[in-house]
Amino acid sequence: MKTIGILGGMSPESTISYYKTLNALAKKRFGGYSSAKIILHSVNFEETHAAQMVGDWDRIGQELAKATTGLEAAGADMILLATNTMHKCAAAIEAVITKPFIHIGDACAARLVADQRKRPALLGTAFTMEQSFYTSRLEAHDLSPIIPSKSERADIHSIIFDELVHGKTTDASRQRYIDITANLAAQGADSVILGCTEIGMLLNKANSPLPPYDTALIHCEAAADMANAA
Ligand code: GLU
Repeated sequence: MKTIGILGGMSPESTISYYKTLNALAKKRFGGYSSAKIILHSVNFEETHAAQMVGDWDRIGQELAKATTGLEAAGADMILLATNTMHKCAAAIEAVITKPFIHIGDACAARLVADQRKRPALLGTAFTMEQSFYTSRLEAHDLSPIIPSKSERADIHSIIFDELVHGKTTDASRQRYIDITANLAAQGADSVILGCTEIGMLLNKANSPLPPYDTALIHCEAAADMANAA
């Protein structure tokens, strides 16, 4: 079994889901007392969020690059950046990494393409929905993402930062996400990317009006495939 390095804490809520999912996948594959080999570098999300708010992506990129080198030195065989938004800094990580970097957007796009999806709705932070670092990655896989309206994006973003990253879920926010997803289905979306690693706290296969692609789950499955390969 290979060792999975995680750049986490963005937010801690999503990193908890990574830890649980990766361990469950190792146990499913190997049985018995098996669990995933994980090395976690967990940041202080207050510092990350403050840098996001002033657009200091370079500073975060430098920190993530340094953390990547540390994870490799500690024995990580691959690196996961456990957040969609911070893939805005993927180039800084890719500049120093020597082991495989599993890009969350590529992992999700590969799954959508395998399922013959073409027009996925994209839910995520404002950074992820509005900037090209993420949508262009999807377009490179011949996908045509559908982005929510301005007021929908504002609600999706504030629910992430005011509630989900603090571990809070409400019925009203869940319903808002369901309604937005239904609107995007009416606009021709054939699937929905849960393009923020906390959105699985609200939307799932049972309640989503479109087939959901949970990036946190898909990212973990891609890492487990690499770590647990025979
Ligand atoms: N976990 C989130 C994401 O997947 C948002 C938190 C962050 O800004 O990193 O985009």
